[in-house]
This record gives sequence, C-alpha cells and structure tokens, in this order.
Amino acid sequence: MKQKPPLVALGTLIGRELRNEKVEKPTIKYAQAGLARKGEDYVLIKPDCQRVHGDPSTSFSVFAVLDGHNGNSAAIYTKENLLNNVLSVVPQDIGREEWLNALPRALVAGFVKTDNEFQKEGETSGTTVTFVIIDGWTVTVASVGDSRCILETQGGEVSLLTVDHRLEENVKERERVTASGGEVGRLNVYGGSGVGPLRCWPGGLCLSRSIGDMDVGDFIVPIPHVKQVKLSNAGGRLIIASDGIWDSLSSDMAAQCCRGLPAELAAKLVVKEALRSRGLKDDTTCLVVDIIPSDHPVLPPTPKEKQTLLSSRIFGKRFENPINKSSKLSAVGAVEELFEEGSAILAERLGKDFLLSSNSGLLKCAVCQVELPPTEGSPIKPVSLYSRASKPCEATLLCANCCKKKDAMEGKRPPAVAA
Ligand SMILES: [Zn+2]
Repeated sequence: MKQKPPLVALGTLIGRELRNEKVEKPTIKYAQAGLARKGEDYVLIKPDCQRVHGDPSTSFSVFAVLDGHNGNSAAIYTKENLLNNVLSVVPQDIGREEWLNALPRALVAGFVKTDNEFQKEGETSGTTVTFVIIDGWTVTVASVGDSRCILETQGGEVSLLTVDHRLEENVKERERVTASGGEVGRLNVYGGSGVGPLRCWPGGLCLSRSIGDMDVGDFIVPIPHVKQVKLSNAGGRLIIASDGIWDSLSSDMAAQCCRGLPAELAAKLVVKEALRSRGLKDDTTCLVVDIIPSDHPVLPPTPKEKQTLLSSRIFGKRFENPINKSSKLSAVGAVEELFEEGSAILAERLGKDFLLSSNSGLLKCAVCQVELPPTEGSPIKPVSLYSRASKPCEATLLCANCCKKKDAMEGKRPPAVAA
C-alpha cells in the first residue's frame, strides 16, 4: 500500500489526474447569507449524501436555492422532495461514471415528477429551483427560473452555469411559450401602454419555467436547463443566489466583491453588496460553495499570469493517455464541459436510449416511476424510450398521466377539445 504524502505539488496532481489515477476528493466549504422580505426564499444544504448507502467513498454534496412566489409551499415541497425524486430514477447498482452520465436525465425526470406531485396538493404557489450536485470535481447544475449559479475558477474566470428563464430576457423561451398557445405581454394599466416586465398569460408569471404554478398555462414547464462541468483539481467557487442578488449584481461583480475570502465572509459580502445599491426590494439569498483541493484547503488568491504560464507548460504537450477520448481539457482553473441541454421537450431530454429497468422486471414510467401494466402480447422487458415509436407515448415508458402532461407542456391539446 502506498503512503499518502503530506503535500502534493500542483503539477504532480495534474499529472496524476491525467493518468486517470484516483485523485483525492476535494474539500467542500460553504456558507449562506440572506435577508428576507417576503420569506419565500429557501436553501437546501446536504453536504454528506451517499450514492451507495453506507459507503463514504461514494459521497456527494447537494446545494440548492429555491425562490418561491405566490406563497412558499412549492419551495418547501420541492426542498423536501426533489432530491429523493431525482435519486429514485437512478438505478442503485451503477458505478460512479454511469451515475454521473445518468444525472442529467435523472434531474429532468426528478423535476417533472416533483412538479406533478406538488400539483396534486392543489396549491397555486410556484418556485424557481437551482439545484447543484457536486461529486468529486464534477458539478451538475439543474435549474428552472432565474436563480443563477455562477462558477469562478482559479485565475478569476467567471462563467454562468444556468440560463435565466425570464420572459423579458429570454427570446427563445418567449417563442416557445407563444408557440405553445400562451400570450406574452406586459400588464396593462388603465388601458394605457404596458408596464413592468414581460409576463405570460394566463397567469401573469414573469418566468417561463418553474415548479408548481398550477394556475398558469401548461407552457410554464418544470423541465430544467442542465449543465455538467468538471473542474480542474485547482478547484473553484460556486455562487448560487436568488434574483434579489442578480437584479443588482452582474456575475462578475458578485464574484469579484468576495474574491479570495472564505465562504462565510463571501456570502455575507455578496448580500451586502447587492443591498448597497438597491436596498431590500425582494428576498435576497446567497449560497457560496468552495470546491477546494484537499491538499490545499484554502482558495489561494491566484496571480493570473503565472498560473496561465504554468498551465500552458503543463498542458502544452498532449498527454499520452489513450483513455482520454474527446475531452477538451484545457488550462488549470479552466473547466471541462461535459454536458449542456436546455430543451423544453421532454422526449429530447429523456432520450432514445434511456433504459429503465426495475428489479421486478416490470416497466416503470420514466417520470413518476409508477409501474406500467404490460402491453398485451408483448414480452415484459426493459424497452428503450421511443424505440418502437410511431406515436411516442405508446412506445415510451410514460404513464397515461405523465403522457398527458407532456403533451400539454408542448402545447398539444387533447383531441376531444376540438369542436
Ligand atoms: Zn408517470
């Protein structure tokens, strides 16, 4: 057995990772800060989850910010149920790589399932969700609404891991809503010109995606934008926050005002900075998560030029690793993009090869996990989604309810409605 050295040089660490050796998991440090105005912002912090129950080597962390509207019940319900709904979709007996690959689709199914089940409660509130899973150096973010997650890597590079589902700014979403039968416009006051941000009608919501909101059109969908990235083992910082922050600070401003400071102080400073310019107009919540090399348990303020030089030297020659297929590994502090998809079409998100098997050999709905009755005459075995598809729902593993919901989200009316 090898002795673990007390300190490993950066170059060694990188070399080790390139040779696909097992590298220490990062240390996760986090803190939240915020001020409530309506009391509809919530934070989920679960730093010690395990993929395989009882096996600490399969640990991962979950962080989320939820910004509720028209009440707080959707935010609370989602906070309590979303993680389980996501995990229930992933088979138990898979390895880490498979689990990371399965996450983007499991997140989609989990969001839709949570929305379906919350709507059965008969509550009208809704919520944004920005849901982050950190496993090793891989960060997977799923989001609906406008609570952003930004990533700052060593060297000060700031990138956005979410997309704002706001009708005012998101042209694509405006087009989708309109195409699905919604109307987009501003509030009309006294018959004059519209005021305030763009909203969609019926409902009058400024967001185009959320969980909950049963009193608005079906075109407000719970299908998340998902992005998965792998950090270099220099680590990075995530700032996840509700729009109370982002309405006054740009991503760069938020990252910059707390750069180099420990998470606890950083979260407070971001909130303070946001309130300084605008005052407390809305619930304002900020969660800072630092993903730090375990060998160097602080985020060092990095001299940019030096780092770039070092990294270009290290990465200058292509490593002789045949396993390292298409990955576009770049400089230290840079990020490898593994996955990004934001389509609101459920079929595209769950994919053709989304194999679902259950231990009992019965088929399950891909979204709600309800067991499906076997089709007459056809053998019971796992079937890939849409594989025999001429009419999608017949071949997919969606139960009748989820299928109806899927059609409604895509703006398809049931045929009976046609007069
Ligand atoms: Zn279902």
